[in-house]
Amino acid sequence: MKKRYGTTSFIIKFTSFSLILATAAIILGGMVIPASSSGVDCAPVKIIVDAGHGGLDGGAVADDGTVEKDLNLSLAHSLKNALIAIGADVIMTRSDDVMLADDDSPHKKRDDLNARAKLARESGDCIFVSIHMNKFPVSKYSGLQVYYSPKNEQSKAIADALQAAARQYIDPANARVPKKAGEEIYLMQNVTCPAVLVECGFLSNPEELERLKDAAYREKLALIIAATLMEYASVADARE
Ligand SMILES: [Zn+2]
Repeated sequence: MKKRYGTTSFIIKFTSFSLILATAAIILGGMVIPASSSGVDCAPVKIIVDAGHGGLDGGAVADDGTVEKDLNLSLAHSLKNALIAIGADVIMTRSDDVMLADDDSPHKKRDDLNARAKLARESGDCIFVSIHMNKFPVSKYSGLQVYYSPKNEQSKAIADALQAAARQYIDPANARVPKKAGEEIYLMQNVTCPAVLVECGFLSNPEELERLKDAAYREKLALIIAATLMEYASVADARE
């Protein structure tokens, strides 16, 4: 049986992706539209925003010293703000530069991932989106890449929507297609809600690294992810 996102019927008046993006553009321009005036009058969509890595776990490091965890957190905060502005409930797995594990644990990384997965499992109907940055030994590769959890059938549709939106609004040359998360992506194997992991770009590609370091670019990415998730949620709800 299909999972719902809210406990009651979720209705959002933003039925057009372009309208959501227009709203997002207004938000980006500094005119934040409160949820109460956005037409959302029922149980909101709940979205868990997961900033990858944190604390002792920096994730990938670019040649210039840029650390993945910092870009992830910045983008996650932008995503949270955009989602709240267009009517979602947002839970952050981390809001600061921390690892979700005890300092004296011998298995900090596994504990950290388990804590994130546990939060998702205990949050009821929700969509889980994990934010990461990619890195590869060869610098020529670039482009946003979405992975989806094989544990919930809705994950792929969300990944498809995000990958398509990235192609349409960020990089028309990005021919990547969503990939099913393998065993190596532990978090995607241990959540049950619709879940995706967005590798927002390659820190190993000099041009993409410069874009990812640009706060305005991260804001744009966040808005596109937010609008796409909300569009998906509204369409999925309308089908039920
Ligand atoms: Zn990562």
